[in-house]
Amino acid sequence: MQEFGKIAFLGMGLINSSLARDLKKKKLCKELVATSRSKKTRNIVRRLKLVDAVYDTYENTVRGADLIVIGIPVDAYEGVFKKINKHLKSGAIITDVGSVKKEVIKKIQKIIPKSAIFIPGHPIAGTENSGPEAGLHGLFKNAWCILTPSKQTNSAAVELVKKLWLSVGMKVDIMDPVYHDKILAITSHIPHLVAYSIVGTVSNLEKSIKKEVIKYAASGFRDFTRIAASDPIMWRDILLLNSKSVLQMLKIFKKDLSTIESAIKKKDGKFLYSLFSKTRKIRKDIIS
Ligand code: NAP
Repeated sequence: MQEFGKIAFLGMGLINSSLARDLKKKKLCKELVATSRSKKTRNIVRRLKLVDAVYDTYENTVRGADLIVIGIPVDAYEGVFKKINKHLKSGAIITDVGSVKKEVIKKIQKIIPKSAIFIPGHPIAGTENSGPEAGLHGLFKNAWCILTPSKQTNSAAVELVKKLWLSVGMKVDIMDPVYHDKILAITSHIPHLVAYSIVGTVSNLEKSIKKEVIKYAASGFRDFTRIAASDPIMWRDILLLNSKSVLQMLKIFKKDLSTIESAIKKKDGKFLYSLFSKTRKIRKDIIS
C-alpha cells in the first residue's frame, strides 16, 4: 500500500522523526523526504537514514510532494510557508502536528495558496525529549490524533490525512479548532504550566534547600521535572498562542486551588478525602 505518494517532512524533531520511522518501516509511501532548519539536524537525519532523501532547503523538499507534514514550533510556521508557497505541487495536501490550532489556522489561511489544501492536525503523543534522535517507533500507537479542518475542506484530502495517522496506530477525531484549544488547555497546557511553575519555585529557593529538594526528590517532584524539561521555545509558543483558553482554564484552576487552600485552613478532611478519591478514580479510568 503506497497511497501517500511522496511525503515531505518540514522539521525533523521528535514528532516528525517518529512518524518517519513508522512510515518507513511500514513502506506506506513511494518516497519520504525531509529537511530541517539546521545543518546539524539534517546530518543526524541523514546518518539515521530516517527518510529517502534529505534536502538543504524547504523549497527543494516540497517540490513534487503530495503530502507535506509540518513539525516545527507553531510560531515558526509563517516564515516557512512564505518559503514553500511558490514551490508546492498543485493540489498538495499540507498537514501539521502543532499543539495549538486556532491562531495558527488564522495565520496560515492568509498566506497559503488556493491550490494547496491545509488540514491542521495534532497527534496527542510525545515525550519531553527533542530532536530526531529522540524519535521513537510506535510513539503514536493507541493515542488520539485530532484533525481540525474547516467545513469546506475537500473530504478526500481529510480522509487521506486521517488514513496517515490511522496507519501508525492512532485513533482519529475531527474537531473544531477552538474546541481543540480549550480541551488541550486543560489536559496539556495547564499541567505544563503548573510543572514549570513548581520547578521554578524550587529553583528560586535558597541554595541549601534546593540541594536537599533535589537530593530527596521522589516521584512527585521528579514527575514535575520531567514535564518541566520540555522544550522551552515550543512551550512558550503554545502558551502565548493559546493564551485565551489557557487564561480561562487558569482562572478555574486557581479557584479550585483556593478551595483546597481553605479546606486545609479549615481542617476539612472530609472535603480533601472526597476530592482525592475522585481524582484517584480519574487516574484509574484513564489507565484502564
Ligand atoms: P523538536 O523535537 O524540538 O524539533 C523541532 C523541529 O523544529 C526541528 O526540526 C527544528 O529544527 C525545527 N525548528 C525549531 N525552531 C524552528 C524555527 N524557528 N524555524 C524553523 N524550524 C524550526 O520538536 P517536536 O517535539 O517534534 O515538536 C514539533 C511540533 O510538534 C511542535 O509544533 C509541537 O507543538 C508539536 N507537538 C509536540 C509534542 C511533544 O510532545 N513534543 C506532541 C505533539 C505535538 P533544527 O533542529 O534543525 O533547528
